[in-house]
Amino acid sequence: MSKKYEMTIGGETVTADDYTDVRNPANMEEVVGQAPVGTAAHLDQAVDAATKAFASWRNSSDQDRIDACNAMAKVCTDNSEELAVLLTKEQGKPLGGMGSQFELGGCGAWAGFTAGLSLPEKTIEDSDERHVIQQRVPLGVVGSITPWNWPLLIAIWHIVPGVRTGNSVVIKPSPFTPLSTLRMIELFNEVLPSGLFNVVPGGDELGAKLTNHDDIDKIVLSGSVATGKKVMASAAKGVTPVTLELGGNDPGIMLPGTDPAPFTEGLFFGSMINSGQTCGALKRLYVHEDDLDATVTALSGMAANIPMGDGMDEGSILGPLQNERQFKRVIELVEDAKANGGTCVTGGEPMGGPNYFYPVTIVTGVSDGVRLVDEEQFGPVLPIITYTDIDDAIVRANGTDFGLDASVWGNDGEECTRIAAQLEAGTVYVNKHAEIAPHVPFGGIKCSGLGGLFAEEGLAAYTSIKIINKAV
Ligand code: NAD
Repeated sequence: MSKKYEMTIGGETVTADDYTDVRNPANMEEVVGQAPVGTAAHLDQAVDAATKAFASWRNSSDQDRIDACNAMAKVCTDNSEELAVLLTKEQGKPLGGMGSQFELGGCGAWAGFTAGLSLPEKTIEDSDERHVIQQRVPLGVVGSITPWNWPLLIAIWHIVPGVRTGNSVVIKPSPFTPLSTLRMIELFNEVLPSGLFNVVPGGDELGAKLTNHDDIDKIVLSGSVATGKKVMASAAKGVTPVTLELGGNDPGIMLPGTDPAPFTEGLFFGSMINSGQTCGALKRLYVHEDDLDATVTALSGMAANIPMGDGMDEGSILGPLQNERQFKRVIELVEDAKANGGTCVTGGEPMGGPNYFYPVTIVTGVSDGVRLVDEEQFGPVLPIITYTDIDDAIVRANGTDFGLDASVWGNDGEECTRIAAQLEAGTVYVNKHAEIAPHVPFGGIKCSGLGGLFAEEGLAAYTSIKIINKAV
C-alpha cells in the first residue's frame, strides 16, 4: 500500500474522503503516493484558517518575517533529500543535474534571499505643511496556484514573498504533482505559525473555486495562458490583485556567421532543461540559412550524448514528460510538423513502453505558420528555423502573443544589444537562456504574464501602498 499524503489546514492534518494515485511518469507502474482530493469545503476551511492567521501575522515584526523565511529555507535544506526523491518520483526529473536536488537548492536559496529583502517605509514629504509617509502593507490571504513542471520551486516563489510581507497563504498544487508540495507545507507547519500555510490539492475546478473565493485577497498563478485568462476574469469580480506567470514560446536568434561550437551547451540546455518543460526554455531557434548545417550538427551531436532515463538512475540527465496530456501534445505537434515539411534530425517518435519518455528532437524544414513554431510545445523538441535577413528574423520572433524570454547568440556584442532591444520579452538573454536568480525580477509581457516575481519588485506585488499624511 502506497503512502497517503494529507492536507495541512490551520496547522492540523486534515484527511479527505477520496484519494487519487500519483504515478511515476518514468514507468506508470509505481504508485508514488496517494493524494487527497480537496473539496470546496476544504477550501473554505483553509481560507478561514488563513484569514485567522493573517489577523495576527499582519502585525508581526519585520524580524519575525525574516525569521520565518529563514526557517522555510532551513526546512528545504534540511529535508532536501526526502523532498528531492519524492519530487523525482512524482515529476520524473532526475535527482541530479538540473533536476530535483537543483530545484531544492533553489527553494532554499530563494527563501533565504527573500528573507533579506525589504520594502522600507518612505518619507515622501517632510515639510512645514505636512509629513507624508508611504508604507507597504500586506494584502491578506494569498491564493497560490502552481503547475507541475517545477512544483516546489514555484511554490516557494509564490509563498515566501507572501509571508515575508505579512500575508498568509492557501496553496493549490497541480493535480499532477501534489505530493511534494503537501509534504513541504506539512514540514513548514512544524516550525511556523499555524494557519500561515494551508494546502488543498485538487483539479482545475478547485483552482477556479479558489480564485473565485470571496475571502482571497491576492492571486498568484503560474500556469498556461488559457488558465491565466480565466483567472484574470474571475479576479475582476472582487478587483483582486493578480500576479500571472504564464506560458512562453521563447525565440532565440543566432547572428549570421556564428560558430555554434561555443554556444552549443547553452543552446541545448536552454531548450532542454527539465526535458523542455520550462516556461522560459528556448522554444524556437532562428539561424541564418548558411549556418543551419553547422548548428544542427552541433545540437544533434550533443543530443546523442545526453542520457534520458528514470530520474532515480544516477546517469540520467533528462527525464520523461510528466503526464499523458503533455506527452500526447508533444507527439501531436511533432506529427503536425512532419506533415508540414518538417524533418526530425534526431528523435521524432516516443521511446516506447508504459511511460512518457519522448527523446530530444531537433526539427528542421518548418517555419512560422506551423504549430510547432507558433505554439508552446513544452517538451524536448526544438525547431530550427532559417532566415536570410536578420531584421526579418526579429519580426518573426516577435510575431506571437507570447513575451516571456528571448535570446540572442553571437560574437558581435553591439549587434546582440541592438537585437535585444527590439525583442519583445520580459527578459532577453545574450549568449545564454533561462538563467534566473532571486535578485533579478522575472515576468512576462503580452500574454505571458502580468506583474513579476523576485527582488523588491516581486515583493511589492504582495502589498498595497498605504499613505499616512499628517498635518504639521
Ligand atoms: P495549467 O494552466 O493547466 O495549470 C496550472 C495550475 O492552474 C494547475 O494547478 C491547475 O489545476 C490550475 N488551473 C487550471 N484551470 C484553472 C482555472 N480555471 N482556475 C484556476 N486554476 C486553474 O498549466 P500546467 O499545464 O500545469 O503548466 C504548464 C504551463 O504553465 C505552461 O504554459 C508553462 O509555460 C506555464 N508556466 C509558466 C511559468 C512562469 O513562471 N511564467 C512557470 C511554470 C509554468
